[in-house]
Amino acid sequence: MHAITNSGWVEVISGCMFSGKTEELLRRLRRAEIAGQEVAAFKPSIDDRYGTETIGSHDGAKWEALVVDPENPGPEIFEALNGEQVVGIDEANFFSENLVSVCEQLAEDGRRVIASGLDMTFRGEPFEPVPNLIAVAEYVDKVQAICIKCGEPATRTQRLIDGVPAHVDDPTILVGAEESYEARCRNCHTLRTD
Ligand SMILES: [Zn+2]
Repeated sequence: MHAITNSGWVEVISGCMFSGKTEELLRRLRRAEIAGQEVAAFKPSIDDRYGTETIGSHDGAKWEALVVDPENPGPEIFEALNGEQVVGIDEANFFSENLVSVCEQLAEDGRRVIASGLDMTFRGEPFEPVPNLIAVAEYVDKVQAICIKCGEPATRTQRLIDGVPAHVDDPTILVGAEESYEARCRNCHTLRTD
């Protein structure tokens, strides 16, 4: 990944759960740090799976991140920045649409922005703001997991509640619910509609 101009740019790493999005984000942040670039990372305040100030991937890699308001992340992000050239944003799907203009402003200020997030909800529908962020990004990677049912490349997140596929009318974001998730392909992904 290299700049073709002196301007900043936006990179998006998207995919379903267990596709290695956060692992890839952390890999890029680490490479920038090794090159001596200053890095700042942010995450939304609703996700505390790995502690409130750590971006964690399922493989155990970690990065310190400032937790910001997902509805209006701009003020906290711009206040926190102090000359960092590289900005990482994890769990982009949990932010409001405001994230898109924040990322564009960061890129216009000459920064490299790397955002990672789910591109689809558990229903297999676009998970805003990630699709709109993809639209304005210079670089987009869609990473796949492996379907737990059939072994094909998986692009969708299967939500299970007590082992049963979630209902199509369930809310998109469930915080603290008793549920589990699997990576599945298009054929094996199911929704309850009764
Ligand atoms: Zn499958």
